[in-house]
Amino acid sequence: MRTQTLGEMQSQALRINGVIDHAARESGNREIVSRWADGSITRTNWAGIREDALKMAQALEALGLKPGERVASMAMNHSRHLVSWYGVAGMGGVLHTVNPRLFDDQLEYIVSHAEDKVMIYDAAFQPIIDKMKDRWTSVEHYICYDSGEHTQSFEDWIGAQDGDYEWFIGDERDPCMICYTSGTTGNPKGVQYEHRSTMLHAIAGMQPAAFNFSSSSVMLPVVPMFHAASWGLPYAGAMAGVKFVFSAVNDPAVLHQLMLDEGVTDSAGVPTVWLAHFQYCDKEGIDLPPLKAATIGGSAAPRFMVERLMKNGTRVQHAWGMTETSPIGTVGGPTSDWDNLTFEEKVTKTCMQGRPIYGVQLRTVDLDDMATELPRDGKTSGALQIRGPWIIKRYFKAEQDAANEEGWFDTGDVGIIHPDGTLQLTDRTKDVIKSGGEWISSVELENAAVGHPGVAEAACVGMFHPKWDERPVLFVVRKEGSDVTSGEIIEHLKPLIAKWWLPDAVEFVDDIPHTATGKISKKDLRDRFADYKLEA
Ligand code: AMP
Repeated sequence: MRTQTLGEMQSQALRINGVIDHAARESGNREIVSRWADGSITRTNWAGIREDALKMAQALEALGLKPGERVASMAMNHSRHLVSWYGVAGMGGVLHTVNPRLFDDQLEYIVSHAEDKVMIYDAAFQPIIDKMKDRWTSVEHYICYDSGEHTQSFEDWIGAQDGDYEWFIGDERDPCMICYTSGTTGNPKGVQYEHRSTMLHAIAGMQPAAFNFSSSSVMLPVVPMFHAASWGLPYAGAMAGVKFVFSAVNDPAVLHQLMLDEGVTDSAGVPTVWLAHFQYCDKEGIDLPPLKAATIGGSAAPRFMVERLMKNGTRVQHAWGMTETSPIGTVGGPTSDWDNLTFEEKVTKTCMQGRPIYGVQLRTVDLDDMATELPRDGKTSGALQIRGPWIIKRYFKAEQDAANEEGWFDTGDVGIIHPDGTLQLTDRTKDVIKSGGEWISSVELENAAVGHPGVAEAACVGMFHPKWDERPVLFVVRKEGSDVTSGEIIEHLKPLIAKWWLPDAVEFVDDIPHTATGKISKKDLRDRFADYKLEA
Protein backbone atom coordinates (compact mmCIF):
# COMPACT_ATOMS: atom_id res chain seq x y z
CA MET A 1 0.00 0.00 0.00
CA ARG A 2 1.24 3.49 -0.85
CA THR A 3 2.30 5.33 2.30
CA GLN A 4 3.65 8.52 0.76
CA THR A 5 1.61 11.25 -0.89
CA LEU A 6 2.66 12.69 -4.23
CA GLY A 7 4.80 15.81 -4.37
CA GLU A 8 3.17 19.16 -4.92
CA MET A 9 4.45 20.32 -8.27
CA GLN A 10 2.41 20.88 -11.42
CA SER A 11 1.79 18.05 -13.77
CA GLN A 12 2.06 18.82 -17.45
CA ALA A 13 2.12 16.16 -20.11
CA LEU A 14 5.35 16.15 -22.13
CA ARG A 15 3.77 16.54 -25.56
CA ILE A 16 5.21 17.87 -28.78
CA ASN A 17 2.76 20.77 -29.10
CA GLY A 18 4.37 22.25 -25.96
CA VAL A 19 7.66 22.51 -27.87
CA ILE A 20 6.32 24.36 -30.87
CA ASP A 21 4.30 26.66 -28.59
CA HIS A 22 7.50 27.47 -26.71
CA ALA A 23 9.51 28.04 -29.91
CA ALA A 24 6.83 30.36 -31.35
CA ARG A 25 6.52 32.28 -28.07
CA GLU A 26 10.20 32.61 -27.13
CA SER A 27 12.01 32.44 -30.48
CA GLY A 28 9.14 33.35 -32.79
CA ASN A 29 11.14 35.42 -35.25
CA ARG A 30 14.17 33.08 -35.46
CA GLU A 31 14.42 32.13 -39.12
CA ILE A 32 13.77 28.81 -40.80
CA VAL A 33 15.38 28.95 -44.24
CA SER A 34 14.63 26.44 -47.02
CA ARG A 35 16.59 26.00 -50.22
CA TRP A 36 14.34 24.13 -52.64
CA ALA A 37 15.21 21.73 -55.44
CA ASP A 38 14.57 24.45 -58.08
CA GLY A 39 17.17 26.71 -56.45
CA SER A 40 14.68 29.12 -54.84
CA ILE A 41 15.00 30.10 -51.18
CA THR A 42 12.10 30.79 -48.83
CA ARG A 43 12.12 32.07 -45.27
CA THR A 44 9.72 31.57 -42.42
CA ASN A 45 10.25 31.45 -38.65
CA TRP A 46 9.18 29.42 -35.60
CA ALA A 47 5.97 31.45 -35.29
CA GLY A 48 5.20 30.71 -38.94
CA ILE A 49 5.88 26.99 -38.48
CA ARG A 50 3.41 26.91 -35.57
CA GLU A 51 0.76 28.78 -37.54
CA ASP A 52 1.04 26.33 -40.43
CA ALA A 53 1.14 23.33 -38.08
CA LEU A 54 -2.18 24.44 -36.53
CA LYS A 55 -3.69 24.67 -40.01
CA MET A 56 -2.27 21.29 -40.95
CA ALA A 57 -3.72 19.67 -37.82
CA GLN A 58 -7.10 21.17 -38.75
CA ALA A 59 -6.78 19.99 -42.34
CA LEU A 60 -5.98 16.43 -41.20
CA GLU A 61 -9.05 16.40 -38.98
CA ALA A 62 -11.10 17.66 -41.93
CA LEU A 63 -9.88 14.61 -43.90
CA GLY A 64 -11.27 12.43 -41.10
CA LEU A 65 -7.94 11.35 -39.64
CA LYS A 66 -8.24 10.04 -36.07
CA PRO A 67 -5.66 10.32 -33.27
CA GLY A 68 -3.23 7.41 -33.40
CA GLU A 69 -3.53 7.01 -37.19
CA ARG A 70 -0.50 7.34 -39.44
CA VAL A 71 0.34 10.05 -41.96
CA ALA A 72 3.28 9.34 -44.27
CA SER A 73 5.78 11.87 -45.56
CA MET A 74 8.23 11.18 -48.35
CA ALA A 75 10.31 14.30 -48.44
CA MET A 76 13.68 15.93 -48.13
CA ASN A 77 14.55 18.61 -45.55
CA HIS A 78 12.47 21.78 -45.81
CA SER A 79 10.11 23.98 -43.81
CA ARG A 80 6.92 22.26 -45.02
CA HIS A 81 8.28 18.93 -43.87
CA LEU A 82 9.07 20.57 -40.51
CA VAL A 83 5.47 21.82 -40.30
CA SER A 84 4.33 18.20 -40.69
CA TRP A 85 6.45 17.08 -37.73
CA TYR A 86 4.39 19.40 -35.53
CA GLY A 87 1.06 19.38 -37.39
CA VAL A 88 0.59 15.60 -37.37
CA ALA A 89 1.60 15.20 -33.71
CA GLY A 90 -0.51 18.25 -32.83
CA MET A 91 -3.75 16.52 -33.83
CA GLY A 92 -2.72 13.26 -32.15
CA GLY A 93 -1.56 11.58 -35.35
CA VAL A 94 1.62 9.62 -35.98
CA LEU A 95 4.04 10.82 -38.66
CA HIS A 96 5.65 8.05 -40.68
CA THR A 97 8.75 9.45 -42.37
CA VAL A 98 9.35 7.21 -45.39
CA ASN A 99 12.84 6.77 -46.81
CA PRO A 100 12.45 7.22 -50.60
CA ARG A 101 15.60 5.17 -51.22
CA LEU A 102 14.00 1.93 -50.04
CA PHE A 103 13.37 -0.75 -52.62
CA ASP A 104 9.83 -1.16 -54.02
CA ASP A 105 8.99 -4.24 -51.95
CA GLN A 106 10.15 -2.50 -48.78
CA LEU A 107 8.12 0.61 -49.67
CA GLU A 108 5.06 -1.52 -50.22
CA TYR A 109 5.64 -3.36 -46.96
CA ILE A 110 6.20 -0.37 -44.65
CA VAL A 111 3.33 1.79 -45.94
CA SER A 112 0.94 -1.17 -45.70
CA HIS A 113 2.28 -2.27 -42.33
CA ALA A 114 1.91 1.25 -40.92
CA GLU A 115 -1.53 1.51 -42.59
CA ASP A 116 -0.70 5.05 -43.68
CA LYS A 117 -3.87 6.98 -44.54
CA VAL A 118 -2.32 10.10 -46.07
CA MET A 119 0.87 10.43 -48.14
CA ILE A 120 2.53 13.85 -48.46
CA TYR A 121 5.49 13.93 -50.82
CA ASP A 122 8.00 16.06 -52.70
CA ALA A 123 7.30 16.48 -56.43
CA ALA A 124 10.77 14.98 -57.05
CA PHE A 125 9.36 11.64 -55.83
CA GLN A 126 6.33 11.65 -58.18
CA PRO A 127 7.79 8.69 -60.16
CA ILE A 128 7.90 6.63 -56.93
CA ILE A 129 4.31 7.64 -56.11
CA ASP A 130 3.10 6.69 -59.61
CA LYS A 131 4.86 3.33 -59.38
CA MET A 132 3.65 2.49 -55.86
CA LYS A 133 0.11 3.94 -55.80
CA ASP A 134 -1.66 0.69 -56.71
CA ARG A 135 0.31 -1.22 -54.11
CA TRP A 136 -0.45 1.21 -51.26
CA THR A 137 -4.03 0.22 -50.61
CA SER A 138 -4.31 1.96 -47.22
CA VAL A 139 -3.50 5.44 -48.58
CA GLU A 140 -6.66 7.50 -49.14
CA HIS A 141 -5.19 10.96 -49.79
CA TYR A 142 -2.13 12.21 -51.66
CA ILE A 143 -0.79 15.74 -51.16
CA CYS A 144 2.28 17.29 -52.75
CA TYR A 145 4.67 19.53 -50.82
CA ASP A 146 5.43 21.44 -54.05
CA SER A 147 3.08 22.80 -56.70
CA GLY A 148 0.12 20.53 -57.19
CA GLU A 149 0.68 19.44 -60.77
CA HIS A 150 -0.59 15.92 -60.09
CA THR A 151 -2.49 16.40 -56.87
CA GLN A 152 -3.42 19.05 -54.32
CA SER A 153 -0.51 21.18 -53.11
CA PHE A 154 0.38 21.36 -49.42
CA GLU A 155 0.06 25.16 -49.37
CA ASP A 156 -3.45 25.08 -50.91
CA TRP A 157 -4.47 22.23 -48.64
CA ILE A 158 -3.52 23.94 -45.35
CA GLY A 159 -4.35 27.38 -46.80
CA ALA A 160 -8.04 26.41 -46.81
CA GLN A 161 -8.01 26.36 -42.97
CA ASP A 162 -8.16 29.36 -40.61
CA GLY A 163 -5.74 27.93 -38.00
CA ASP A 164 -8.27 28.41 -35.19
CA TYR A 165 -7.42 25.09 -33.59
CA GLU A 166 -6.66 23.74 -30.12
CA TRP A 167 -3.96 21.07 -29.99
CA PHE A 168 -5.25 17.57 -29.29
CA ILE A 169 -4.94 16.73 -25.59
CA GLY A 170 -3.71 13.22 -24.91
CA ASP A 171 -1.38 11.13 -22.82
CA GLU A 172 2.34 11.87 -22.93
CA ARG A 173 2.94 8.23 -23.80
CA ASP A 174 0.81 8.41 -26.96
CA PRO A 175 2.74 7.66 -30.15
CA CYS A 176 3.84 10.61 -32.34
CA MET A 177 6.20 9.24 -34.99
CA ILE A 178 7.19 5.97 -36.58
CA CYS A 179 10.44 5.18 -38.39
CA TYR A 180 11.21 1.86 -40.05
CA THR A 181 14.63 0.38 -39.88
CA SER A 182 15.71 -1.89 -42.69
CA GLY A 183 17.83 -4.61 -41.19
CA THR A 184 20.00 -6.83 -43.32
CA THR A 185 17.48 -9.69 -43.18
CA GLY A 186 13.71 -9.90 -43.18
CA ASN A 187 11.20 -7.08 -43.51
CA PRO A 188 11.88 -3.60 -42.15
CA LYS A 189 10.75 -3.08 -38.56
CA GLY A 190 8.78 -0.11 -37.23
CA VAL A 191 9.98 1.87 -34.23
CA GLN A 192 7.16 3.96 -32.77
CA TYR A 193 8.31 6.97 -30.73
CA GLU A 194 6.15 8.51 -28.01
CA HIS A 195 5.61 12.19 -27.16
CA ARG A 196 7.35 11.68 -23.82
CA SER A 197 10.31 9.71 -25.15
CA THR A 198 10.76 12.26 -27.93
CA MET A 199 10.71 15.19 -25.50
CA LEU A 200 13.19 13.60 -23.10
CA HIS A 201 15.47 12.75 -26.01
CA ALA A 202 15.27 16.32 -27.33
CA ILE A 203 15.98 17.87 -23.92
CA ALA A 204 19.04 15.63 -23.64
CA GLY A 205 20.00 16.42 -27.25
CA MET A 206 20.31 20.16 -26.62
CA GLN A 207 22.86 19.93 -23.84
CA PRO A 208 26.58 20.77 -24.19
CA ALA A 209 27.45 17.07 -23.96
CA ALA A 210 25.34 16.47 -27.09
CA PHE A 211 24.48 19.04 -29.80
CA ASN A 212 25.49 21.98 -27.62
CA PHE A 213 22.54 24.08 -28.84
CA SER A 214 21.75 27.66 -27.91
CA SER A 215 19.71 30.46 -29.44
CA SER A 216 22.82 31.57 -31.32
CA SER A 217 23.18 28.22 -33.11
CA VAL A 218 22.55 28.16 -36.85
CA MET A 219 22.11 24.54 -37.86
CA LEU A 220 22.12 23.02 -41.32
CA PRO A 221 21.13 19.37 -40.81
CA VAL A 222 22.23 17.21 -43.71
CA VAL A 223 20.87 14.11 -42.01
CA PRO A 224 17.55 13.60 -43.78
CA MET A 225 14.27 14.10 -41.96
CA PHE A 226 13.32 10.61 -43.15
CA HIS A 227 16.18 8.87 -41.38
CA ALA A 228 16.13 8.07 -37.64
CA ALA A 229 13.97 11.10 -36.76
CA SER A 230 16.71 13.33 -38.17
CA TRP A 231 18.57 12.66 -34.91
CA GLY A 232 15.83 14.54 -33.05
CA LEU A 233 17.19 17.87 -34.34
CA PRO A 234 13.83 19.40 -35.35
CA TYR A 235 12.67 19.09 -31.72
CA ALA A 236 15.92 19.95 -29.88
CA GLY A 237 16.34 22.91 -32.27
CA ALA A 238 12.86 24.23 -31.45
CA MET A 239 13.48 23.91 -27.72
CA ALA A 240 16.69 25.96 -27.96
CA GLY A 241 15.38 28.42 -30.57
CA VAL A 242 17.92 27.46 -33.20
CA LYS A 243 17.89 29.01 -36.69
CA PHE A 244 17.53 26.16 -39.17
CA VAL A 245 18.84 26.16 -42.71
CA PHE A 246 17.38 23.32 -44.74
CA SER A 247 18.37 22.12 -48.18
CA ALA A 248 16.13 19.90 -50.26
CA VAL A 249 19.20 18.79 -52.25
CA ASN A 250 22.41 17.31 -50.91
CA ASP A 251 24.81 18.71 -53.51
CA PRO A 252 28.00 19.80 -51.66
CA ALA A 253 28.26 22.98 -53.76
CA VAL A 254 24.77 24.02 -52.63
CA LEU A 255 25.42 23.09 -49.01
CA HIS A 256 28.72 24.94 -49.01
CA GLN A 257 27.22 28.16 -50.36
CA LEU A 258 24.31 27.98 -47.92
CA MET A 259 26.71 27.52 -45.01
CA LEU A 260 28.58 30.67 -46.01
CA ASP A 261 25.53 32.78 -46.93
CA GLU A 262 23.45 31.92 -43.87
CA GLY A 263 26.22 31.98 -41.23
CA VAL A 264 25.80 28.29 -40.41
CA THR A 265 27.59 27.32 -37.18
CA ASP A 266 26.54 23.67 -36.82
CA SER A 267 25.89 20.80 -39.14
CA ALA A 268 25.11 17.10 -38.81
CA GLY A 269 25.43 14.20 -41.21
CA VAL A 270 26.83 10.77 -41.98
CA PRO A 271 30.53 10.47 -42.94
CA THR A 272 29.84 10.33 -46.70
CA VAL A 273 28.37 13.84 -46.50
CA TRP A 274 31.67 15.21 -45.21
CA LEU A 275 33.62 13.14 -47.71
CA ALA A 276 31.67 14.73 -50.57
CA HIS A 277 32.26 18.15 -49.05
CA PHE A 278 36.02 17.57 -48.82
CA GLN A 279 36.14 16.46 -52.46
CA TYR A 280 34.19 19.54 -53.53
CA CYS A 281 36.49 21.93 -51.62
CA ASP A 282 39.61 20.18 -52.98
CA LYS A 283 38.36 20.39 -56.54
CA GLU A 284 37.51 24.07 -56.21
CA GLY A 285 40.67 24.83 -54.23
CA ILE A 286 38.67 26.45 -51.42
CA ASP A 287 38.58 26.15 -47.61
CA LEU A 288 36.05 24.14 -45.66
CA PRO A 289 33.26 26.30 -44.26
CA PRO A 290 34.06 27.83 -40.84
CA LEU A 291 31.75 25.59 -38.81
CA LYS A 292 31.87 25.62 -35.02
CA ALA A 293 30.62 22.06 -34.71
CA ALA A 294 30.03 19.06 -36.93
CA THR A 295 28.13 16.05 -35.67
CA ILE A 296 29.05 12.83 -37.45
CA GLY A 297 27.15 9.60 -36.92
CA GLY A 298 25.42 6.70 -38.61
CA SER A 299 28.75 5.07 -39.50
CA ALA A 300 32.21 5.39 -38.03
CA ALA A 301 33.94 8.70 -38.76
CA PRO A 302 37.32 7.85 -40.32
CA ARG A 303 40.43 9.33 -38.73
CA PHE A 304 41.45 11.56 -41.65
CA MET A 305 37.98 13.14 -41.59
CA VAL A 306 38.10 13.92 -37.89
CA GLU A 307 41.63 15.27 -38.29
CA ARG A 308 40.76 17.56 -41.18
CA LEU A 309 37.66 19.00 -39.52
CA MET A 310 39.52 19.58 -36.27
CA LYS A 311 42.36 21.33 -38.11
CA ASN A 312 39.64 23.54 -39.61
CA GLY A 313 38.77 24.63 -36.06
CA THR A 314 35.54 22.61 -36.04
CA ARG A 315 34.51 20.69 -32.93
CA VAL A 316 33.72 17.14 -34.05
CA GLN A 317 30.89 15.44 -32.20
CA HIS A 318 31.07 11.80 -33.15
CA ALA A 319 27.74 10.24 -32.23
CA TRP A 320 26.46 6.71 -32.11
CA GLY A 321 22.84 5.63 -32.18
CA MET A 322 20.18 3.67 -33.97
CA THR A 323 16.61 4.11 -35.16
CA GLU A 324 15.71 1.97 -32.12
CA THR A 325 17.36 4.47 -29.77
CA SER A 326 15.54 7.62 -31.00
CA PRO A 327 18.51 7.73 -32.06
CA ILE A 328 21.08 9.32 -29.70
CA GLY A 329 23.01 6.88 -27.52
CA THR A 330 26.44 8.46 -27.20
CA VAL A 331 28.07 11.70 -28.34
CA GLY A 332 31.71 12.67 -28.23
CA GLY A 333 32.94 16.01 -26.97
CA PRO A 334 35.90 17.36 -25.02
CA THR A 335 36.52 15.44 -21.77
CA SER A 336 37.98 16.82 -18.52
CA ASP A 337 41.52 15.82 -19.54
CA TRP A 338 41.15 17.51 -22.96
CA ASP A 339 43.62 20.34 -22.43
CA ASN A 340 46.36 17.90 -21.46
CA LEU A 341 46.02 15.81 -24.61
CA THR A 342 48.14 16.21 -27.73
CA PHE A 343 46.37 16.86 -31.04
CA GLU A 344 46.92 13.23 -32.04
CA GLU A 345 45.40 12.01 -28.76
CA LYS A 346 42.41 14.30 -29.23
CA VAL A 347 41.86 12.86 -32.69
CA THR A 348 42.13 9.30 -31.36
CA LYS A 349 39.55 10.05 -28.69
CA THR A 350 37.22 11.76 -31.16
CA CYS A 351 37.36 8.73 -33.46
CA MET A 352 35.70 6.76 -30.67
CA GLN A 353 31.93 7.06 -30.43
CA GLY A 354 31.63 9.31 -27.39
CA ARG A 355 29.92 8.88 -24.04
CA PRO A 356 26.31 8.10 -23.11
CA ILE A 357 24.22 11.20 -22.53
CA TYR A 358 22.11 11.38 -19.37
CA GLY A 359 19.10 9.10 -19.70
CA VAL A 360 20.70 6.10 -21.32
CA GLN A 361 22.82 3.33 -19.86
CA LEU A 362 25.23 1.16 -21.83
CA ARG A 363 26.89 -2.17 -21.09
CA THR A 364 28.75 -4.84 -23.01
CA VAL A 365 28.16 -8.56 -22.57
CA ASP A 366 30.11 -11.64 -23.61
CA LEU A 367 29.64 -12.39 -27.31
CA ASP A 368 29.40 -16.12 -26.72
CA ASP A 369 26.79 -16.26 -23.95
CA MET A 370 25.26 -12.77 -24.50
CA ALA A 371 24.69 -12.48 -20.73
CA THR A 372 27.92 -12.07 -18.74
CA GLU A 373 28.57 -8.37 -18.21
CA LEU A 374 32.07 -7.30 -19.26
CA PRO A 375 34.41 -4.83 -17.54
CA ARG A 376 34.63 -1.20 -18.68
CA ASP A 377 38.38 -1.54 -19.04
CA GLY A 378 39.05 -0.07 -22.47
CA LYS A 379 40.20 -3.50 -23.73
CA THR A 380 37.46 -6.11 -23.60
CA SER A 381 35.02 -6.05 -26.50
CA GLY A 382 31.53 -7.47 -26.35
CA ALA A 383 27.94 -7.17 -27.53
CA LEU A 384 26.61 -3.69 -26.84
CA GLN A 385 23.32 -3.30 -24.97
CA ILE A 386 21.43 -0.13 -24.06
CA ARG A 387 18.43 0.90 -21.98
CA GLY A 388 16.60 4.11 -21.12
CA PRO A 389 13.35 6.03 -21.60
CA TRP A 390 13.91 6.65 -25.34
CA ILE A 391 15.10 3.14 -26.16
CA ILE A 392 12.77 0.70 -27.92
CA LYS A 393 10.72 -1.75 -25.89
CA ARG A 394 8.90 -3.50 -28.73
CA TYR A 395 8.75 -3.10 -32.52
CA PHE A 396 5.46 -1.87 -33.99
CA LYS A 397 2.87 -4.67 -34.08
CA ALA A 398 5.43 -7.23 -32.84
CA GLU A 399 4.26 -9.94 -30.49
CA GLN A 400 7.30 -9.95 -28.26
CA ASP A 401 9.42 -7.29 -26.64
CA ALA A 402 12.73 -6.41 -28.27
CA ALA A 403 14.27 -5.49 -24.92
CA ASN A 404 14.69 -7.98 -22.07
CA GLU A 405 12.89 -7.76 -18.72
CA GLU A 406 15.48 -5.37 -17.32
CA GLY A 407 15.10 -3.12 -20.35
CA TRP A 408 18.37 -4.08 -22.07
CA PHE A 409 18.11 -3.88 -25.84
CA ASP A 410 20.67 -5.75 -27.86
CA THR A 411 22.04 -3.31 -30.42
CA GLY A 412 23.74 -5.83 -32.69
CA ASP A 413 26.89 -3.73 -32.34
CA VAL A 414 30.16 -4.84 -30.81
CA GLY A 415 32.21 -2.42 -28.75
CA ILE A 416 34.59 -1.63 -25.94
CA ILE A 417 33.68 0.63 -23.03
CA HIS A 418 36.55 2.67 -21.57
CA PRO A 419 36.85 3.49 -17.84
CA ASP A 420 35.67 7.09 -18.49
CA GLY A 421 32.54 5.76 -20.21
CA THR A 422 33.73 6.35 -23.79
CA LEU A 423 32.30 3.85 -26.24
CA GLN A 424 34.57 2.47 -28.93
CA LEU A 425 32.58 0.64 -31.53
CA THR A 426 34.46 -2.18 -33.19
CA ASP A 427 31.94 -3.99 -35.35
CA ARG A 428 28.47 -5.42 -35.92
CA THR A 429 27.88 -8.80 -34.25
CA LYS A 430 27.20 -10.30 -37.66
CA ASP A 431 30.32 -8.83 -39.28
CA VAL A 432 33.00 -9.40 -36.68
CA ILE A 433 35.56 -11.90 -38.02
CA LYS A 434 36.54 -14.89 -35.90
CA SER A 435 40.00 -16.12 -36.83
CA GLY A 436 41.47 -19.06 -34.91
CA GLY A 437 39.10 -18.30 -32.02
CA GLU A 438 40.10 -14.59 -31.79
CA TRP A 439 38.01 -11.61 -32.91
CA ILE A 440 39.09 -9.23 -35.67
CA SER A 441 37.24 -5.94 -36.14
CA SER A 442 36.24 -5.51 -39.77
CA VAL A 443 35.41 -1.85 -39.12
CA GLU A 444 38.86 -1.01 -37.78
CA LEU A 445 40.43 -2.61 -40.83
CA GLU A 446 38.17 -0.58 -43.13
CA ASN A 447 38.88 2.66 -41.30
CA ALA A 448 42.61 2.07 -41.55
CA ALA A 449 42.31 1.24 -45.26
CA VAL A 450 40.34 4.38 -46.21
CA GLY A 451 43.18 6.45 -44.73
CA HIS A 452 45.27 5.49 -47.82
CA PRO A 453 45.11 8.35 -50.34
CA GLY A 454 44.34 5.96 -53.23
CA VAL A 455 41.32 4.34 -51.54
CA ALA A 456 37.81 5.71 -52.06
CA GLU A 457 35.94 3.06 -50.09
CA ALA A 458 36.76 -0.23 -48.38
CA ALA A 459 34.75 -3.10 -46.93
CA CYS A 460 36.13 -6.04 -45.04
CA VAL A 461 34.42 -9.41 -44.65
CA GLY A 462 35.44 -12.72 -43.12
CA MET A 463 35.86 -15.50 -45.68
CA PHE A 464 35.99 -19.21 -44.88
CA HIS A 465 39.50 -20.44 -44.24
CA PRO A 466 40.29 -24.16 -43.79
CA LYS A 467 42.75 -23.58 -40.96
CA TRP A 468 41.56 -20.40 -39.17
CA ASP A 469 37.79 -20.72 -39.82
CA GLU A 470 37.66 -17.15 -41.10
CA ARG A 471 40.19 -14.68 -42.41
CA PRO A 472 39.66 -11.05 -43.44
CA VAL A 473 39.41 -10.12 -47.11
CA LEU A 474 39.44 -6.42 -47.95
CA PHE A 475 37.38 -5.15 -50.90
CA VAL A 476 38.57 -1.80 -52.16
CA VAL A 477 37.24 0.81 -54.56
CA ARG A 478 40.15 2.87 -55.89
CA LYS A 479 39.90 6.66 -56.01
CA GLU A 480 39.56 8.09 -59.51
CA GLY A 481 42.97 8.11 -61.20
CA SER A 482 44.61 5.92 -58.54
CA ASP A 483 46.43 2.68 -59.40
CA VAL A 484 47.18 1.66 -55.82
CA THR A 485 48.21 -2.00 -55.52
CA SER A 486 47.33 -4.66 -52.99
CA GLY A 487 50.95 -4.66 -51.70
CA GLU A 488 50.84 -0.89 -51.11
CA ILE A 489 47.64 -1.21 -49.12
CA ILE A 490 49.11 -3.98 -46.95
CA GLU A 491 52.20 -1.82 -46.30
CA HIS A 492 49.91 1.08 -45.34
CA LEU A 493 48.01 -1.15 -42.89
CA LYS A 494 51.05 -2.70 -41.21
CA PRO A 495 51.76 0.08 -38.68
CA LEU A 496 48.07 0.61 -37.98
CA ILE A 497 46.78 -2.82 -36.94
CA ALA A 498 47.95 -6.06 -35.30
CA LYS A 499 49.97 -8.23 -37.70
CA TRP A 500 47.57 -11.15 -37.56
CA TRP A 501 44.70 -8.83 -38.55
CA LEU A 502 46.30 -8.07 -41.95
CA PRO A 503 43.85 -9.17 -44.65
CA ASP A 504 44.69 -12.39 -46.49
CA ALA A 505 43.70 -10.74 -49.75
CA VAL A 506 42.88 -7.28 -51.11
CA GLU A 507 40.39 -7.38 -53.99
CA PHE A 508 39.70 -4.34 -56.14
CA VAL A 509 36.06 -3.76 -57.14
CA ASP A 510 34.21 -1.06 -59.10
CA ASP A 511 31.65 -0.53 -56.39
CA ILE A 512 30.60 -1.72 -52.95
CA PRO A 513 26.88 -2.41 -52.31
CA HIS A 514 25.02 -0.09 -49.92
CA THR A 515 21.75 -0.31 -48.01
CA ALA A 516 18.95 2.23 -48.54
CA THR A 517 20.38 4.28 -45.66
CA GLY A 518 23.79 4.48 -47.32
CA LYS A 519 25.62 1.94 -45.18
CA ILE A 520 27.87 -0.74 -46.62
CA SER A 521 25.78 -3.88 -47.10
CA LYS A 522 28.09 -6.71 -46.07
CA LYS A 523 25.30 -9.19 -46.72
CA ASP A 524 25.09 -8.17 -50.39
CA LEU A 525 28.88 -8.17 -50.62
CA ARG A 526 29.04 -11.69 -49.19
CA ASP A 527 26.30 -12.80 -51.60
CA ARG A 528 28.20 -11.28 -54.51
CA PHE A 529 31.34 -13.21 -53.53
CA ALA A 530 29.57 -16.39 -52.37
CA ASP A 531 31.94 -18.54 -54.44
CA TYR A 532 35.07 -16.77 -53.27
CA LYS A 533 37.81 -19.16 -52.07
CA LEU A 534 40.81 -18.27 -49.96
CA GLU A 535 43.89 -20.33 -50.44
CA ALA A 536 45.06 -22.28 -47.39
P1 AMP B 1 20.29 3.07 -38.23
O1 AMP B 1 19.24 2.54 -37.33
O2 AMP B 1 20.00 2.88 -39.67
O3 AMP B 1 20.63 4.49 -37.91
O4 AMP B 1 21.63 2.23 -37.99
C1 AMP B 1 22.19 2.10 -36.70
C2 AMP B 1 23.55 1.46 -36.81
O5 AMP B 1 24.48 2.31 -37.46
C3 AMP B 1 24.19 1.18 -35.47
O6 AMP B 1 23.69 -0.01 -34.88
C4 AMP B 1 25.67 1.08 -35.84
O7 AMP B 1 25.99 -0.19 -36.37
C5 AMP B 1 25.79 2.10 -36.95
N1 AMP B 1 26.33 3.35 -36.41
C6 AMP B 1 25.65 4.43 -36.00
N2 AMP B 1 26.47 5.40 -35.58
C7 AMP B 1 27.73 4.93 -35.69
C8 AMP B 1 29.05 5.45 -35.41
N3 AMP B 1 29.24 6.67 -34.95
N4 AMP B 1 30.10 4.64 -35.65
C9 AMP B 1 29.94 3.40 -36.15
N5 AMP B 1 28.73 2.87 -36.45
C10 AMP B 1 27.64 3.61 -36.22
